[in-house]
Amino acid sequence: MSSISRRHLMTATAGLTASVAAPRIVFAQAAPAPAAPAAAPATGPFTLSALTYPTNALEPHIDAKTMEIHHDRHHAAYVANMNTAAKTNPQLGAVPIENILGNINALDDSIKFTVRNNLGGHANHTMFWSIMGPNGGKPEGEVLAAIDKDLGGMEKFQTDFNAAGGRQFGSGWVFVTVAKDGKLAIETRPNQDSPIMDGKRVLMGNDVWEHAYYLNYQNRRPDYLKAWWNTVNWAKIAERYAAAKAGTLGV
Ligand code: MN
Repeated sequence: MSSISRRHLMTATAGLTASVAAPRIVFAQAAPAPAAPAAAPATGPFTLSALTYPTNALEPHIDAKTMEIHHDRHHAAYVANMNTAAKTNPQLGAVPIENILGNINALDDSIKFTVRNNLGGHANHTMFWSIMGPNGGKPEGEVLAAIDKDLGGMEKFQTDFNAAGGRQFGSGWVFVTVAKDGKLAIETRPNQDSPIMDGKRVLMGNDVWEHAYYLNYQNRRPDYLKAWWNTVNWAKIAERYAAAKAGTLGV
């Protein structure tokens, strides 16, 4: 994309964001249920997408305050840091996120650490919000068949996933990766690392940083891991599974 058309796009996006931000405040005053957080103003090529559900939609499993802080502050900070990095390294905004993460070691040492943490965080949280939601249903079809075949069935899968998330020392993530042939595997990563950095694709994952659960669960990460399953959007995961097999799954 030329710099002119990119600038034009960014201007258009900024205008769009401003136009949807104002009604959100009115809605929040009129209704007891909080609205989904608005997207951050576009100040660069990276944008924070608004949640597609209200912040209290995942209660009682994840509380609204945690969702607000997590999305509007933590995730927003990763996006803002990437936009700052893109000011001096505009190439960061010119290619798909998964391409940058998949070639993280090719980056200059001066920005590698920033990109690893902040673009990794942006990718991980973008996936995270998208695979959660109210009334998420149950796994079925090809995803359920793959869970049965590769992960020993739902009960063993959930037990092993929770155990892996519980073992992750300090901050990090527990993921299910999906190969192009549809094969699934449970993997953990520290900090904001992603399996995408190893050329893999993520079907789903859970954030085990303390900021994801501390208000409600304090140090009881196992309780959070167990409750989190109630928030999983299986229809979205089925979409991601099909995309992975088609080779079109990004972050
Ligand atoms: Mn997080």
